[in-house]
Amino acid sequence: MTNPLLAEWNRPFGLAPFDRISDEDFAPAFEVALAAHLAEIEAIADSPEAPSFANTIEAMEGAGEALDKVLSVFFSVAGADSNPARQALQREFSPKLAAHSSAIYSNERLFARVRDLWERRDALGLSEEEARVLMLTHRGSVRAGAALTGEEAERMTAVKSRLAVLGTQFTQNLLKDEADWVMPLSEADLEGLPGFVVDGARSAGEAGGHDGPVVTLSRSLIVPFLQFSPRRDLREKAWRAWTSRGENGGETDNRGIAAEILGLREERAALLGYPDFATFKLETEMAGTPDRVRELLMQVWAPARAAAMADQAQMEEMLRADGINDDFRAWDWRYYAEKRRKALHDLDEAELKPYLQLERMIEAAFTCSNRLFGLEFRELDQPLYHPDCRAWEVTRNGTHLAVFIGDYFARASKRSGAWCSAMQSQAKRPVEKAPIVINVCNFAKPPKGKPALLSYDDARTLFHEFGHALHQMLSDVEFGSVSGTSVARDFVELPSQLYEHWLEVPEVLAEFATHAETGEAMPEALLNKVLAAATFDMGFQTVEYVASALVDLEFHSGVSSDDPMAKQAEVLAEIGMPSAIPMRHATPHFAHVFAGDGYSSGYYSYMWSEVMDADAFAAFEEAGGAFDPATASKLEKFILSKGGSVEAEELYTAFRGRMPGVEALLKGRGLAA
Ligand SMILES: [Zn+2]
Repeated sequence: MTNPLLAEWNRPFGLAPFDRISDEDFAPAFEVALAAHLAEIEAIADSPEAPSFANTIEAMEGAGEALDKVLSVFFSVAGADSNPARQALQREFSPKLAAHSSAIYSNERLFARVRDLWERRDALGLSEEEARVLMLTHRGSVRAGAALTGEEAERMTAVKSRLAVLGTQFTQNLLKDEADWVMPLSEADLEGLPGFVVDGARSAGEAGGHDGPVVTLSRSLIVPFLQFSPRRDLREKAWRAWTSRGENGGETDNRGIAAEILGLREERAALLGYPDFATFKLETEMAGTPDRVRELLMQVWAPARAAAMADQAQMEEMLRADGINDDFRAWDWRYYAEKRRKALHDLDEAELKPYLQLERMIEAAFTCSNRLFGLEFRELDQPLYHPDCRAWEVTRNGTHLAVFIGDYFARASKRSGAWCSAMQSQAKRPVEKAPIVINVCNFAKPPKGKPALLSYDDARTLFHEFGHALHQMLSDVEFGSVSGTSVARDFVELPSQLYEHWLEVPEVLAEFATHAETGEAMPEALLNKVLAAATFDMGFQTVEYVASALVDLEFHSGVSSDDPMAKQAEVLAEIGMPSAIPMRHATPHFAHVFAGDGYSSGYYSYMWSEVMDADAFAAFEEAGGAFDPATASKLEKFILSKGGSVEAEELYTAFRGRMPGVEALLKGRGLAA
């Protein structure tokens, strides 16, 4: 029998025949598809014809179709419905995929063709998008080291493979430090903790084989413990353990690894001809240069710090009122912030929940996209990889646009968090493809017969991921490599963070946030409480984030430091870091920056996108409302349909007429003067 992953898929709209695929099919299909892709690449590289856009760049775009199909199914189930067999396959596939891509980049004959086209680019008569795809293909190869020869090429390979080893070691040390520490709690130690924290401590104790409740370094347990425990001595002990992960001496200490990583990154940038790693890294991002990142972060820093210090002054009084004559410390912050939150906002999750039904929130996200972009949704009856998944055909004016899949409920086989991915990206050449997009979330599944209810954060997540889905579904470009969310890292969160704003539009909540039992709309007083609480303690949150982003940036700017801890202290002293607020991620456990390359000198990205989303939503408000048709059509034309086919800054400027200032962000965070 033919492997169903490699056979023709004759399901509607290009959906995979999930009901016919079993785990045993993945490994053999993967090997065949990998070999097929390599053979296609070899054929392009060895073509006897002179290089042309069609026989080289467009041919590369079209290569690997079988591999795309196999991986789209595999990664969907590996992330959202894993099992031991799929985990083992993932461990087997990852190094093979890394070797596969480096084999393509180091193919000298292929790179010679790409370079030849790049050098003749002005004489090729390329369209704007073709020129862009050629530039990206050439740039990606050069940045991967394809243009290096001899000793330099060898050194680059050695540097990259050493960096991969160090990144893995950094992560494993961190996991070990996190797993090794527990703080047992006596029954008396539990006093004052809310039920869900006590339950969490008990089940952590059971899971770890201890004979009573414990606090571990898992964020979901230690943060509520620091928030609610009235025991200052225990909070200090827990806080110290939490903030010294990776910094405990011995075999799991990450300080030496961080120093070596920074040195190797600097060398990598130098081999490619860049003055430092941040300059290399930011070249492909919207921010472009370290100075522009620094400028944004420093504009936010001063108002955030001022807000945090004002909050701290109030909490210091609360500390005194508790009879404590000591400085206000880092382990006091979350505890007193929680007390302040209760006093100021009195927002009860339990009162809010019945108004946020999953079914109605899906309807709200769909309806907003209908009012803005004319999208229509029809539920499909097709087998998917799990019975909880649902699929809709998305059309506009009767024309097929995409398939949208929603996989909303938490289960043990799903990794945590929420994400959006494309099982098939939009493209017109060399083969026409309509997007198949999936949103995966981790909402609590209701008991049978009851409606699924969301927290406000859950509802925001639903809109966020649907914003990413719109970026994929409305994509209208020629080539798959620049479609949908294939954009700069500091631009990719714009459509998603922007879409969150429609959840907060009063008419949307009035229509869709209706009580599960009474059907009544959310009372305005409750709605106002929700909106007011959204910016609570934002000074603290902004300070801990911006400090981390600045340290990340300075680590990779200029000559790298042999002593990252000294460098970190220097940066924090310079900006006047409040003593009661730690970095969100200190160096020895800053996995974003050291576990891999993804967010190195890129931790700022979230805030860069936030500046734009706040400013972009303001464009709707200025034009007369959240559903202003002219602004919506500009948003689609200049941003959502364009993917990465045009430079991000050009797109944003076309949409808004200018680049954003930081004002809308400060207002959104409640930090504006
Ligand atoms: Zn996102």
